[in-house]
Amino acid sequence: MDELVIRGGTLVTPEGPKREDIAIQGGRIQAIGPELPGGAEEIDARGLHVFPAVIDVHLHFNEPGRTEWEGASTGSRALAAGGGAVFFDMPLNSMPCTVNAREFDRKRAALEAASITDFALWGGLIPGNAGEMAELAERGAIGFKAFLCDSGLPEFPRADDLTLYKGFREAARLGLPVAVHAESHAITSALSARCRAEARSSIRDFLESRPVLAEVEAIQRATLLAHEAGAKLHIVHISSGRGVAAAAEAKARGVDVSIETCPHYLFFTEEDVERLGAIAKCAPPLRNAVDQSALWAQVLNGTVEMIASDHSPAPPEMKTGDFWNSWGGIAGVQSTLAVLLEQGYRRRGLSLERIASLVAREPARRFRIAGKGAVEKGNDADLVLVDLEKSATLRAGDLFQRHRLSPYVGATFRGMVRRTIRRGETILEDGNVVASSNGKLVRPT
Ligand SMILES: [Zn+2]
Repeated sequence: MDELVIRGGTLVTPEGPKREDIAIQGGRIQAIGPELPGGAEEIDARGLHVFPAVIDVHLHFNEPGRTEWEGASTGSRALAAGGGAVFFDMPLNSMPCTVNAREFDRKRAALEAASITDFALWGGLIPGNAGEMAELAERGAIGFKAFLCDSGLPEFPRADDLTLYKGFREAARLGLPVAVHAESHAITSALSARCRAEARSSIRDFLESRPVLAEVEAIQRATLLAHEAGAKLHIVHISSGRGVAAAAEAKARGVDVSIETCPHYLFFTEEDVERLGAIAKCAPPLRNAVDQSALWAQVLNGTVEMIASDHSPAPPEMKTGDFWNSWGGIAGVQSTLAVLLEQGYRRRGLSLERIASLVAREPARRFRIAGKGAVEKGNDADLVLVDLEKSATLRAGDLFQRHRLSPYVGATFRGMVRRTIRRGETILEDGNVVASSNGKLVRPT
């Protein structure tokens, strides 16, 4: 007898939705089909849609070292509440950063002790650490992250072009992708310096100091260097339709590049930053409505391949006061699926299968996470059961993250996570965390 059978849900699969049962044994999907034999435990999923659980390829849980900002315990619970079962943690803002094997081991141990979801770890690519990349790869790093502009943290310096090129060469040798934060340092630092010199410090001044042009230029340079080095490139959090177009043009020329954006660029605009203040501050910043609709077009036409939260929280005191000096980062790990269901599926006709691809299937494929990312026989039973008809307004009290600050508070979403299952174990049910075991490290095959 199978240990668990999920009955009567509508499965979101590449072939379209189909209503079938799922039998689970040993944490894996054992069978999919109509009217499967009974299991030791059964879940009634009639009226619900069964998606592959979210794989969030880009976030910052800040553990170890800055758990007063977040932490894997609270962060992974928030991820699960949003339908996620795997996250990829960035090498910053944990402290020290994950730039060598010792820090990788430390973070792995901390996350195994705290996270209820599975996780993978990004290594860092900074000036001087190319010699550490092979050991990071050996430990199971999913890839390497580099900044083309200042990261905001002195301990994670930006990669100059030569560091980047050498890092790309080493990553290519190791067969791993490099993820880049693509904003031109030359443009953003000069515009920021000019604002400071002219004592201009409004929110609008900040937005204008990080123009779309800075993103497009950095994407073009990164794709050139990656191509020269034969490396796989992943561009994180592209904020504009023009940025996506620049990456897509490189891809058409044969550059091995993947394209990520974040829900906040699809949900908020510059006007929202002016209304909400530092809670909606991030880099690259939120864009105007024209850029936003161009970005949506690139999601709807399939050019954008992945959507990740870039959850980057900070304590409330770092989000108040002077806007320029407040922490940049949006805390939205719990809302990715909700945003895509409300703004994509409901309002723009984005198919459920495309949503599953953006948040699960493509992340697993691109980063070579075997056995995850799709509702398929033989895969890990990482599933999220969603009631597409139920609406809810997000309240601060619903958030599981450490500091209950999110620009999404007050927004109403139709489509509610009812249950998140990680390797066959329900870890969240109707807003309550019920996990009885912790997650583990996943590594590329
Ligand atoms: Zn980030």
